[in-house]
Amino acid sequence: MKKRIKLNKDAVSFPMFLLKPVKFFLEKRIEKLKKNKNSLVGGDPFKDENRVLNNSLEEDVDEQLGHFESQVKVKFLTKQMVQFRKALSRLKIGKYGVCEECGKMIDTDRLAIKPEATLCVKCEKARF
Ligand SMILES: [Zn+2]
Repeated sequence: MKKRIKLNKDAVSFPMFLLKPVKFFLEKRIEKLKKNKNSLVGGDPFKDENRVLNNSLEEDVDEQLGHFESQVKVKFLTKQMVQFRKALSRLKIGKYGVCEECGKMIDTDRLAIKPEATLCVKCEKARF
């Protein structure tokens, strides 16, 4: 059985004409993050098919650093992607702009700067 999503009638949701460009933006960003991530994974020296195993120490260090760097970047991109996907799915269930913690509307100024935000300023500060 399909689960029905309950919509809180008290929460004000954004009109569709406002949500459409946001949805478009989020989807574009997810697409871009995915591409960046893929190219990063490809740039990892550990995944280089022509990788030589009898490197000099210097080359080894370079390789390790390169690997570490791309791992950090991939982690960061993944985190961002998760956040964008979350915002997008909130939008799809009509909860875009509603704080997932306290249920209050997120400040529109905040959303203008950070459209992927799913927490209000207060709740985000409380979390970190
Ligand atoms: Zn909140």
